[in-house]
Amino acid sequence: MHPMAARIPVLLWAVFMTQTAIPAPAQTAPATIRYTVSFPAPHTHYVEVTAVVPTDGRPEVELMMAVWTPGSYLVREYARNVEEVTAATDGGRALQVDKFDKNRWRVATGGAPSVEVRYRVYAREMSVRTNWVETDFAMLNGAPTFMTLADGLPRPHEVVIQPAPGWQTSATGLAEMPGGSHRYRAPDFDTLVDSPIVIGNPAVYEFTVDDTPHFLVNVGEAGVFDGARAVGDLEILVREHRRMWGMLPYDKFVFLNLLTLVNEGGGGLEHKNSTMLMANRWVTRTRQTYLSWLGLASHEFFHTWNIKRLRPVELGPFNYEDEVHTRSLWMAEGVTDYYADLALHRAGLSTREELLDGLSNHVEGLQTTPGRLVQSVEEASFDAWIKYYRPNENSANVTISYYTKGAVLGFLLDARIRAATDGARSLDDVMRAAFQKFSGDRGFTPDEFRAVVEQVGGLNLASFWDGALEGTEELDYGEVLETFGLRFRPVQAPGADRPGRAWLGMSTRDNAGRLVVTQVRRGTPAFAAGLNVDDEILAMNGFRVRADQLTAQLGRYQPGDTVALLVARRDVLMTIEAVFGTESPRQWRFEVSPDATDTQQQQRDRWLQPQA
Ligand SMILES: [Zn+2]
Repeated sequence: MHPMAARIPVLLWAVFMTQTAIPAPAQTAPATIRYTVSFPAPHTHYVEVTAVVPTDGRPEVELMMAVWTPGSYLVREYARNVEEVTAATDGGRALQVDKFDKNRWRVATGGAPSVEVRYRVYAREMSVRTNWVETDFAMLNGAPTFMTLADGLPRPHEVVIQPAPGWQTSATGLAEMPGGSHRYRAPDFDTLVDSPIVIGNPAVYEFTVDDTPHFLVNVGEAGVFDGARAVGDLEILVREHRRMWGMLPYDKFVFLNLLTLVNEGGGGLEHKNSTMLMANRWVTRTRQTYLSWLGLASHEFFHTWNIKRLRPVELGPFNYEDEVHTRSLWMAEGVTDYYADLALHRAGLSTREELLDGLSNHVEGLQTTPGRLVQSVEEASFDAWIKYYRPNENSANVTISYYTKGAVLGFLLDARIRAATDGARSLDDVMRAAFQKFSGDRGFTPDEFRAVVEQVGGLNLASFWDGALEGTEELDYGEVLETFGLRFRPVQAPGADRPGRAWLGMSTRDNAGRLVVTQVRRGTPAFAAGLNVDDEILAMNGFRVRADQLTAQLGRYQPGDTVALLVARRDVLMTIEAVFGTESPRQWRFEVSPDATDTQQQQRDRWLQPQA
């Protein structure tokens, strides 16, 4: 609907790698936008932006700000943090600026060949897609920072950074310009949006793989995060991903690693030659949290191939002003999750048990979420904008995560291909073949990716796609168990070593000592009884229940007992009758079967060990 949608496709990886070597013909290239960003008062959390914008002699120009960031599917209205937009000629004559849409401005040029547009952006949201400016450092993302011309032409964008006093370093995936430090150039707006920038005094570590420099840039180590250990393991991880894909598709890579407070922002966002990671600074202190940080780095780094270059057809060139829907996030995100953990293990950074534990978590997460029977994984992908990124208390009942189910589907497909080819081929071959075929400027459709899977495996998977991708059929784990010689860990029947515990199945929280219901899943006694989210449970069978006594209270009943629950619902007291049930045992934990055959063991070894 906006002209941005009709822009010219750019940025296949081969072009990206040679962008500095082959300048576009001067007579046809759209003119450059030149930004200066500065931080005159970083403690107030503002970044000041000056953009020198070419007008091509037009009487007015339209400027646009993105409303979302690729990789994170929610309209975020970045213009809400923009203030005091003014414009002037380079002689200093003020020009008229009219804001006419939530994220668009029209500037009268007065016939000037370029106009200087100034604005400031409030920057205090700690997430991988937003901005943060404080006394010690700035973290800038392209989408929430830079206005561009709305004509959508692939014009170069240059950024000159004026660091605050005392800030020594800037780090980004952008190419450096000659003429001093802190000067960068993007061949087009997509690259600018795709290249977060960190400025300050971060700890910077460097390593080289295939003669290609890699940087780990840690903001906020604070003597707590173990940077030396992290960079050593990151190099091992990069080598394993490079081994699987067969090459590195960039000429430098930057891991921007923001170390935050516990309970502050977290997560990661992928880019073509960088990633922003966010985790609390204590993560290197325990094995579990460190593995989860390595897993995050592995996931985002795998995206360098899968989604940033091998991408669903809808995810580029981007319309930055409207939602972009795709049915393929199960592959782009879920299969990436599958490989994130698999690569950690193949690189020797996690044990076989830790890998199986991660796979078990995915399967258990899927099989215990009622929404798996309501929403297909393709629907989950398509509706990411309005469902996955906008969850509510009913989400588990009606939606499924395309990360979780996608990772499980990756695992099932891998096993199926290995079984069908006696271990000669695998999902690794699918990913490499798809990369070869589709990593140019167009991307793949759902049917095209399915065809590659079928071709590599020599399989007809029509009924699998119907049931597992387009439908909500229960998945069959028989093949993964059989192929790799695994089994689900036997769980003792309830009552074998302890009495079955009375169970209602709702989630609750302790609100200053009061017991408040936070989630009611379908298929639980609480759901059957009609308990509601936000009900405060006051008493069971006439006896007071406080938040810290729920477990003890439940221990006094048996499954099958009836209980009268006194609840306060929207300020009205009422009694609700419920019948206690029994929680299902944890039955989705993989382990290696002690009866595995030699063939199964060979399949497992081929799967888990790096193959030349
Ligand atoms: Zn991802």
